[in-house]
Formats: sequence, structure tokens, C-alpha cells
Amino acid sequence: MTFSVRGLAVAQGIAIGRAVLIASSRLDVAHYFIEESDVEAEIERVRNGRDAVIDELGRLQHSVSQMSRKEAPHELAAMLDVHLMLLQDDMLSDGVKHWITDRLYNAEWALTTQLELIARQFDDMEDEYLRERKADLEQVVERILRHMQGVALPLVDGDGQPKRDTKRENKPRKGQQDLLLDDTIDVPLILVAHDLSPADMLQFKQSVFAGFVTDVGGKTSHTAIVARSMNIPAVVGARSASTLIRQDDWVIIDGDAGVVIVDPSPIILAEYGFKQRQGELERGRLSRLRNTPAVTMDGEKIELLANIEQPDDAVAALNAGAVGVGLFRSEFLFMGRDGKGQSKLPNEEEQFQAYKRAVDGMQGLPVTIRTVDIGADKPLDRQERLEKTQDTHLNPALGLRAIRWSLADPDMFLTQLRAIFRASSFGQIKLMIPMLCAVGEIHQTLALIKQAKADLDAKSIPYGDVKIGAMIEIPAAALILPTFLKYFDFLSLGTNDLIQYTLAIDRADEAVAHMYDPLHPAVLHLIANTIQQCKLQGKDVSVCGEMAGDVSLTRLLLGMGLRCFSMHPAQILTVKQHILRTDTSKLKDWVQQVLTSENPAEIV
Ligand code: PEP
Ligand code: MG
Repeated sequence: MTFSVRGLAVAQGIAIGRAVLIASSRLDVAHYFIEESDVEAEIERVRNGRDAVIDELGRLQHSVSQMSRKEAPHELAAMLDVHLMLLQDDMLSDGVKHWITDRLYNAEWALTTQLELIARQFDDMEDEYLRERKADLEQVVERILRHMQGVALPLVDGDGQPKRDTKRENKPRKGQQDLLLDDTIDVPLILVAHDLSPADMLQFKQSVFAGFVTDVGGKTSHTAIVARSMNIPAVVGARSASTLIRQDDWVIIDGDAGVVIVDPSPIILAEYGFKQRQGELERGRLSRLRNTPAVTMDGEKIELLANIEQPDDAVAALNAGAVGVGLFRSEFLFMGRDGKGQSKLPNEEEQFQAYKRAVDGMQGLPVTIRTVDIGADKPLDRQERLEKTQDTHLNPALGLRAIRWSLADPDMFLTQLRAIFRASSFGQIKLMIPMLCAVGEIHQTLALIKQAKADLDAKSIPYGDVKIGAMIEIPAAALILPTFLKYFDFLSLGTNDLIQYTLAIDRADEAVAHMYDPLHPAVLHLIANTIQQCKLQGKDVSVCGEMAGDVSLTRLLLGMGLRCFSMHPAQILTVKQHILRTDTSKLKDWVQQVLTSENPAEIV
């Protein structure tokens, strides 16, 4: 039966495909398609992993049987029995074989997909004892995965036994088959998850998924931002989507309306298929603007810069016609490094190489590198994220984040600064500091920048002329602008946080997402004033928050005097189209009206 789930539209377009349900804890396995000729080898990899675990648990079972009752509690023996039984259950191995053979999923993906499918069946069981067996199954699969990666897992607790259940038949409805590609590996896949961290999302950047749905998240959460940068339709904050949608369900993601349609009828599919093709045509038309300079009808030149998360994003930035990078979110080099045989933080050389790659990739155009903005919804690792989201007492958005985090660990910060300065001798780099709000922090930051340069001087390592800028993302900063203008070469409005902190609305919380309002008079006042003050002082100012890429706000920002916008490459051409159609000389009265209105949304 067709039903729909509403969420927040974060990345435009239509995606139609089959649902792949993935739990956050299982996201760090690789997801890719294999060649048909590799099917046997992939099945063999899982089989070997499983056999190794059976062996390991068998040996353990033997030693437990040799122990006295006191040494080896009854629960341990029972747990081993259950785990061994689960490992030998056909439901696991047959399912894995199916995903590998029929869908050409790689071994790890097949294993976690089957786990997700069985886990949901456990969730639906009435018997509490059986329901709890889900944890055993997860442990068993975790062990197999570790063995496949060559890392053994220490023994964990658990007991019980799952019961086989009937697998839900999920054949396409009559008509779906004809309208979509046939029911084979060619069908696009839609990732459905309760939550995805920004680092998880980034991992899927080059992946097989055609769209995303998550239960949680706000419009400007970093997960949504990365989704947008991938130019793939996405809906976040869809509340219970991951419990309502089942593995392999056919789904449509309408990234424009923020709706997910599950098990669509052929008529609905036809309609959305049409919309999807229209979108593709429109994108084709827009691509012709790539080399057109962004100049308004009255001759105002506008700089359109790109926001990037990784050095390789420079390709997309150039393809979209960006004239530089206005925000390189360097924290993505620091995130998701847990458990992959890397050090927790990237060292100076690793960072230098990454920054140099971005600079080289931009072929002589300027690159603004923002120093690390870890914290809030961008924790260093997933474990920390889980702990934070479960701890209702902490408020990470108001905690040790961004420059606060950097100043709390000067060695880490100096390492990053040296790496950035080193890269500056290979191209134009600007350095930007996030979340500053007090003069004391400014002094500390500038002192460390001086120290990093002195470190390089001492080793005769060259560096270029790097302009230093600050982000205006806290109302306090926007209210003491003269201080910022005194110490920095340029400013950039981080409107995502500026809105969050001005309105006290957690940008990652879908429960208050409806109150997250870029058009709130207080927000508009802070933005307009910052732009105006910078202009008066002759300082460069840009907007690098999501407002810069929102075409419904382009005219307003232009009217406020903004001439530099930084956004995800995917949005650049649409914004450029609006710029080309705008005459800024005619906006003055209207902008004044907006800025003095009680409810600007009525006019904009
Ligand atoms: C912002 O806050 O607007 C911004 C650009 O930084 P981030 O989204 O990474 O917090
Ligand atoms: Mg910010």
C-alpha cells in the first residue's frame, strides 16, 4: 500500500529506487558493487569469516567446558551455544548469498544488509526473550566482519536463540517493474537510516546510493550539508522513516518537497519519473551558464565561491564555475578516523598534503581554509556522537567546539596552522577562524598563528602571504564588529550557526526545525549590519552558510550589498541564474521594507 513520510527537503531532485536500510553502527563497512566474476570469491570471504568465528567460539566452548562452575558462569556457555547456532543458521548465510549473487553487493554490505533484515524481524517478535536475541546476532555478525578485516574481537556478553521467521516478500507491484528498470542490480538504491553522522555521509560521497532518507536531522545539520554537496536527493528529519520503510521497499524521494513515498503505485511512479526527467533537462540547461561571469543586470560583479569538505571536491567546484573556495571545512580530514588503523588526528604532513591537493585542484584560484570546527554535530568519532546524543545533559553546540576546541589543544592547532601555511607557498590560501566571539580568543588565536609562522621560519620553510579572516557565527561577534574589523583582513557570515545561536534553535534537531528561520528580523538585522560595516571599512565580506545557496534569498542578500557568496558547487549555477536576472539598483526600497518588517517572510 502506498504511503508517504514527511521530512525536511535538504537536497533537491527526485530519486526512485529500492530501500537499503542501514543502522548507524554498521555504516563503516564498505558499500560497492562487485563484478559477476567475483561472486564466488565474495561468498567465500564471508564463509571463511564465518568459519573462523565458528572455530574461535568452538575452542572457547571447549575451554569453558573444562572450567569449574565458579570460573565459567552458566551464562557464558549458554551464550556460546546461541552464537554458534546463529552462525550456522541458514537464514544468515542464504540471505548473504542472495545479496551477493542477485544484487552484486560486496561481502560486507551483503552481511550487514542481511543482519538489518533479520534484526527487524527480531524487533517485531512478541516474545521478549526472542526479541533480545537481536543483540546476539549483531555480535556474531560483528565478529565475522572483524575476521574478514583481519581483526579479532574480544568476547562480549549475551545469550539466547533466535527463531527463524518468514521473510517478507517484497516483489515490485505489477506496473512498477515496467516503469522502473527491471528487478535486478540496475535498480537505483536509496539509503534509509535513523541517523547518519556527517562523516558517515561523506563516506557515501562516491557511493552507489541515489538518494538518502534519515529520521533525524535539521535542514542545516552538517549531515544535510554533506548530502546537499553530493547533489543527490535527500530528506532528513523524516522521524520514523527507518521503522516504516522496509528493506527493499520501492521508494521515491522528493528532495524538493521533503517527502518520501513508499511502495508507490504505477501512476505515482509515472508522475515522479516525469518530474525526474524534467529536473535532468533543467540541470542540462543550467550547465550552459558555467563560463558566464556572474554579473547583475546593472553590472555588479558577484563572486561565486565553493564550499568543500575534501580536497577532491575542487573538481566539482571548478566544474560548477566557482572562482575559488570560500570555505574548506577542514574538520572532515579529522573525522571518522577511528578504528581504521590511522592515528586519531591527521599529522602535519598529512594535512599539508591535503591542503596542497585542494590548492592544486583549484588551479591558481584562491582557497579559504577554515581551521578545524570539531564539536556539536561534528564529533571526532562515531562513539563520541552516540554518547553525546544519549546524554541529554550536555549541549554540545554550546560546548567545546571549533576555535574553542583548537585553543584547548594548542599543539593540535599549531600543527594545523603550520600545515596550512606550508601549503600556501603552492597557491593562494586564506585562513579562516570559526566561532570566535571574544577579544581574548582573538588574541590567543593570532598569537598561535604568529607562533606557527615562527616555527616554520626557524626551519626555513617558506610560506605565502596568507590573509586571515574570521567567521561571524555568534550574535556576540556580530555585535562587536569593530573589534573583528580591527584584527582581521576579511569576514565571512556563517549563517547556519548565526541563526542557530540567535534564535536558540539547535540546527540539527528536527523537533524545532520549523522555528529555524533565516528571515527572522533579528537574523536579518545582524547580517545586514555586518555587510554594511565591512563595506564602510573596505573589508571583504562573504556569506558561506546555507543562505548563500538558497535562491529564494539571493535577491535579498544582493540588495543588502553582498557581493561574495560561498555555497556548495551544486547550487552555484542556479544562484548565478538569479544573479543574471537581478538589477540591484532597484532593490533598495524593497530591502528597506524587508528590514523594517515585523514579518519579512511575507514580503520576501
Ligand atoms: C555556518 O555556520 O554557517 C558555516 C558555514 O559553518 P558550518 O555550517 O560548518 O558550521
Ligand atoms: Mg558554523
